[in-house]
Order: sequence, then C-alpha cells, then structure tokens
Amino acid sequence: MTQQLSIFNTLTRKKEVFVPLNPPHVGLYSCGPTVYNEVHLGNLRTFSTFDVVFRYLSHIGYKVRYVRNITDCGHLTNDAGQGVDRIHEASMLEKLEPMEVVQKYTYGFHEVCRIFNILPPSIEPTATGHIVEQIEMVKRILENGFAYVVNGSVYFDVRKFMEKHSYGELSGRVVDELYENTRELDGQDEKRNAVDFAIWKAVSPNHIQQWSSPWGMGIPGWHLECSAMSSKYLGQQFDIHGGGMDLKFPHHECEIAQSIGAYGLAPVRYWMHANMLTVNGDKMSKSKGNSFLPGELFSGQHPLLDKAYAPMAVRFFMMQSHYASTLDFSNEALQAAEKGFRKLMSSVALLNSLPTAAASSSDITALRDRCYAAMNDDFNTPILVAHLFEAVRIINSVNAGTETITKADLVLLSTTVNDFVFGILGLKQEEEANNDLLGNLLNMILNTRTAAKQNKDFAASDKIRDELASMGIRIKDGKDGTTWSIEN
Ligand code: AMP
Ligand code: ZN
Repeated sequence: MTQQLSIFNTLTRKKEVFVPLNPPHVGLYSCGPTVYNEVHLGNLRTFSTFDVVFRYLSHIGYKVRYVRNITDCGHLTNDAGQGVDRIHEASMLEKLEPMEVVQKYTYGFHEVCRIFNILPPSIEPTATGHIVEQIEMVKRILENGFAYVVNGSVYFDVRKFMEKHSYGELSGRVVDELYENTRELDGQDEKRNAVDFAIWKAVSPNHIQQWSSPWGMGIPGWHLECSAMSSKYLGQQFDIHGGGMDLKFPHHECEIAQSIGAYGLAPVRYWMHANMLTVNGDKMSKSKGNSFLPGELFSGQHPLLDKAYAPMAVRFFMMQSHYASTLDFSNEALQAAEKGFRKLMSSVALLNSLPTAAASSSDITALRDRCYAAMNDDFNTPILVAHLFEAVRIINSVNAGTETITKADLVLLSTTVNDFVFGILGLKQEEEANNDLLGNLLNMILNTRTAAKQNKDFAASDKIRDELASMGIRIKDGKDGTTWSIEN
C-alpha cells in the first residue's frame, strides 16, 4: 500500500500528510468524559470518532498508545475557572461520596463503550491519580513566570504568556475580543485579567475532594489535567490530540499554553476535532434537554424517539457521516441507517457460502484500494461505507448468479469486508440476533427439562436448573410453564 494517510489538522486548518514523531509508534490522546453524569449520544459520537482513528492507525501497522482520560475532579461548571466542581455538585445532589459518583459513572461509561463496541484505550488515567504530576506542572509554569498565586489558587497569566508566545491560534480567538466578552463575568476579581484561567484552585474546607499543595488545599484545574496526563504518557510533544469541537476553546487552547508555559514546546502535532451531534440543528447537550442516553435509545423511551434502535445501527448512523461535519439526529435518518446496516449485514453473512468461478466480473483489488484511499483521506468513513455497498452489490450479484468471483478474489473480498466493517468501523452483527439465539437455545433446554420432569427424571431436571443457575440464568416454574431470567 503506497497511499499515505492525511489528517485535517485543526491547528493549521489544512489537510496534512501524517508523519509520526517516532514511527512505528503513534501517541494518540483524546479527552475523556467528566464522570458526573451519564454520557449521551453526542459524547458517544466523539468517542466513536477516536475509536475509529485508533482502530485504523493500528490496522495500518502503527503501534498506537491511545490515552483517554477520566476527569474525576477539577472540572468546574464554568470553564474560566469559576463555578463549582461538577463531581462535588453531583455528590451533593445524589448524596454520595464524590468517589461513589466517579465510580458509578465510570462504570456506566465503560458499559456503554462495550455496547457500542468502542475499544478500551491503552491507558485510561484519572485526574485524581495524577495530582503529583499536576502540581509539578503548575510549579514549572510558575517558575517560568507564566502564572501567579492568589489566595491559594494559581492562575495562568495569559497576557504575560502573550509577550513571548501566541495564544488563540487553535480556536482563532482574538484575545482582545475575549476581554470584551468575559469582562462581565462575576467573581473574577482574583484574576489579573478575565482571560486568565485557574491551573490550581483553592477550595473551601467543606469541599470533600481536595489535596495539599505548595499553595494550600485545593483541586487541579481541568485544562491542566489533560496537559499533565498526556505529557506523562505520550511525552512533551506527541502526535495526535482529539476531542469534540466544543473543547477547542478554552480547553485545548489552554492545554497548548500550559505545555508551552511548562516545557517550551507545542504539545501536539495534529489536532483533530469531531463535530457535534445536533438535534434539529442544536448541539445535543444535557443542559438543553435534547440529549438521549444510550439506554433511552435502546428502549425507545424518550419523547424525541419514535422507536427503539439497536446500538450497532446507531454506530453505523454515525459512520455514515464524516467526523468533521455536524450530524443531525432524526428518526428518519436513524431508520434509514438501520435499513442500510441490515442490508450490509445480511450481505456479509452470505460471504461464506458464495459460489466461486474461473473468473471474476469485478476488480476486488481496486475495491480494496478504494477502501484504503477513503480512510487515508482524513478517515472518510462515509466514502468507505459507499465502497462497502459496492461490495454488497458484488456479493448479492454473485449470490444471485448474475456475477462471478474467483476463489482468490472471494478470500480478498472477505478479508476486505472483515477488516473494514468489523475491524475499522467497529460494527458487529446485531446483539438482537445473539439474544434471539440465546432465547431459542434456552427454550430448547427448558423443553428438554420439562420432558425430563414428565418422565420423573428429577435428577436430570434439577441438574439442568443448577447448571443454568451457575451460569447466572435463573428459571422459575409457574402455572403457565417455565420462564427464565438473567441475574444481574
Ligand atoms: P464532557 O464529558 O462534557 O467533557 O464531554 C466528553 C466529550 O464529548 C468531549 O470530547 C466533548 O467535546 C464531546 N461532546 C459533547 N457534546 C457533544 C455533541 N453534542 N456531539 C459530539 N460530541 C460532543
Ligand atoms: Zn482534555
């Protein structure tokens, strides 16, 4: 494969050939969730995007170290470093320890990732597990003169930083305009300038999460967490940093300033931003009340949903648009995706039983090359999906006897479909199908048990019951027959 991967770098606003710093290694970081509530479908779009990036880079032979953090402290309700800590707020509301909140939503996030077939990253560091590294980074920024201490908090001094470096390059924000827009905010008296942001924040004694630092008890700044964890595991400069478009400013802009402020180096070579999942043109977000949780999607229990949707149909829906474009949710679009997904899957299921012939009517090598070309062009999954539908057409035609394929080409076609559909797009046959299979198998077993009971072979019927119980499947004999349930 001579094709090269190009990535649209949101820092330079150009598509660039991807050249890793230390091939074959690639360092990839993406901002993970703040675990104070359940992730919604919009968050999942961003996580699926970087899952595909991780999968594709690995597929083409790179040894990828993928770091996706868990923010379990320090993320305030206001990005400028004011407001309250989201985990603290959730712990007050839910009457739970902050770490119970963290555990609950981290577990939920992992469960949702498993359901959506989002691979675990290589390292999933938590902010609370890296307080020492964060304090060290704050110290360096202070030593370099780019921060100041007020009442136990440390603020990044944007004006000072701008005497030597540029600020606002990633987001295209002009600092003077920022001044205009942020001057009105309340409670900013501690800061020298409104654009400054907290890298360490003093908290009151009733704040449960807090750590001792050279500046007193406090919590790390959210922006600083990602800088400290990415540099620890990927180095002071690394290949790719991703996140949702809404994180460009201030989060990622601040990450750049902090790394330059601490180490004198721009941290990231290629910045990638996934665009927003929208509902009727509005960004999906919890605060707007237009977000669905994955569970609501699978059950169809949400006023905006006409019906339930299977996770893989939803993943396919996301893959049908390019990550850099906004993706608007609608029942019509999801239902169309569901149909397309079923068509793809039923065709893929035919691959093992296709007849072969002495010649092929289609050029499978060229099709495989086109699939790579699509992914090499800034991970263009919608174009890839279009090529995969060309594969569907070929499979269906060969199955119907209107086209032919050689044995070697069939192997190549199967490999292509397996690589791209399952390995790279991360789709899998619908769980529903698995559940049907499980249901059918259990009914079969229960019929055998009923027959054993009718024959008064209670030893056999009890053995079936006990063995199922040991697998976590509970059966209940009732008037209308035997029912089963899976224990949680
Ligand atoms: P948060 O937990 O709010 O920090 O968000 C986790 C990730 O989801 C971040 O990368 C956000 O940019 C991303 N995100 C939030 N809302 C959306 C949305 N509507 N569409 C796509 N990505 C989103
Ligand atoms: Zn981050």
